[in-house]
Amino acid sequence: MIKGISASKGYAIGKVFIKKHIEININNLKIENIDEEINKLDRALNSTRNQLETLRKKIEEEVGKEESLVFESHQIILDDPEFIDKAKEMIKNNSVSADYAIDTVKKELVVIMESIDDEYMRERAADIKDVSDRIVRNILGIEDEVNITEYNTVVVAHDLTPSDTAQLDKNKVCAFLTNIGGKTSHSAIMARTMEIPAIVGMNNITEVVKNGDTILVNGVEGYVIINPKDSEIKEFENYIRSYNEEKEKLKALKDVKIYDKNNRQIEICGNIGSTKDVDQVLENGGDGIGLFRTEFLYMDRSNMPSEEEQFNSYKVVLEKMNGKPVVIRTLDIGGDKKLDYLDLGEEMNPFLGYRAIRLCLDRVDIFKMQLRALLRASIYGNLKIMFPMISSIEEFRQAKKILEECKQELISEGVVVSDSIEVGIMVEIPSAAVSAREFAKEVDFFSIGTNDLIQYTLACDRMNEKVSYLYNPMHPSVLSLIKMTIDGAHAEGKWVGMCGEMAGDEEAIPTLLEYGLDEFSMSATSILSAKKQILDILKK
Ligand code: PEP
Ligand code: MG
Repeated sequence: MIKGISASKGYAIGKVFIKKHIEININNLKIENIDEEINKLDRALNSTRNQLETLRKKIEEEVGKEESLVFESHQIILDDPEFIDKAKEMIKNNSVSADYAIDTVKKELVVIMESIDDEYMRERAADIKDVSDRIVRNILGIEDEVNITEYNTVVVAHDLTPSDTAQLDKNKVCAFLTNIGGKTSHSAIMARTMEIPAIVGMNNITEVVKNGDTILVNGVEGYVIINPKDSEIKEFENYIRSYNEEKEKLKALKDVKIYDKNNRQIEICGNIGSTKDVDQVLENGGDGIGLFRTEFLYMDRSNMPSEEEQFNSYKVVLEKMNGKPVVIRTLDIGGDKKLDYLDLGEEMNPFLGYRAIRLCLDRVDIFKMQLRALLRASIYGNLKIMFPMISSIEEFRQAKKILEECKQELISEGVVVSDSIEVGIMVEIPSAAVSAREFAKEVDFFSIGTNDLIQYTLACDRMNEKVSYLYNPMHPSVLSLIKMTIDGAHAEGKWVGMCGEMAGDEEAIPTLLEYGLDEFSMSATSILSAKKQILDILKK
């Protein structure tokens, strides 16, 4: 038995697939044989052309024509003289390797294109990056990412980025295991949303298993058994049976609303990262959406989502929720969430750096595009807008001012905007919790982001399994900040939710109820068990 940190509950029996991390090292030594290098490049270009055609056909058949067009534009880049001829010139004139030439021309073109303030050019820059990296992989003989084709696959990796996780095919992947990571890393949160059992922080699990090994994954207790005995498999099948029976029973609570002794409703909501997650919140009886992590709309793609695209996503969520509250958080990129097409620069401490509202107040163009989309969508439901990573009242005022500007612009363009949008902040930095009373005079609501609040309060990286023993939601200093936030809000007549993972944590729920938390928002899969626990406590 090998233990790790349980990141997403559930059980799975499957076969191991080890996902390798591929490091690309560009060869910058002078080459001897120029003709051979040009031939190498031509061969790589041919393979690239064939791969792109295969991908184009696959996506056209499985997803749609429109989605396949990106590969057509990638094919066009291969015939662009500005690109390929320039790389060949470099090989001839400077005796550099084919991979070095492609990488250098790519960087030059991308810098020029990204400096032009035009969305179309930025999209092309992202395309050039994608194609160039594919050509380089082909020159170096690095295989394309393997597609998982077998059912009941347990993916084992050193680490999975949120975008790797998003790409997992839920029909084939029955669990994942990683060497590193913590319970509140975004891959773990996504695993819970996708209902894929996951264990993180397993140290060297990639070294211990082999491809094709049979493995039992106990995501509830956070351990695996490799190549189990028949008796162990039998025992495991019993766990799975009773786990599923318990889940079935909880379904009876789907439409139950919860009121405390003073007849105040306690809302149990769901966290989502995409429009398709809404159905799961509704199926699990969520009273609303307490957090829409909009940054996932910006990820797994090669360009910024346009105002129109974002508007459509927000409208879909608001319409599906049919008047129930929907808290949409503005872009929270940075930390462990990166965008390939937006260079944030290397940072020593990304979680303390240029992220979330800090980035949006600096890149007002990006921020305004999102705010306009949100305001336009506001008439389709009960929208509440929330700013992440607020540390000072000035940041909130600045963000609110930009929101107001967007509203006035839209109104002058003749666009109808709801006049009852609540505007709140995430309380996830200790300074905001300490100043809760001051903030509460100006904001409409708070949502406590404990995933970050805990790491900042205890100076303990939420992603690092080596310090996970310090990451304690029930630490008295964390509880004290939570209480201060709730009391500060209530003193000014404002409501407080919690959208960090702690809101769905069995151990924390009784204390949060006692403090008077108004809304609990969590992974959809935790909603029913949280409802049961809260109802049981209130009955006492
Ligand atoms: C949090 O920090 O608690 C939170 C909900 O935001 P995220 O996990 O996206 O950082
Ligand atoms: Mg956060």
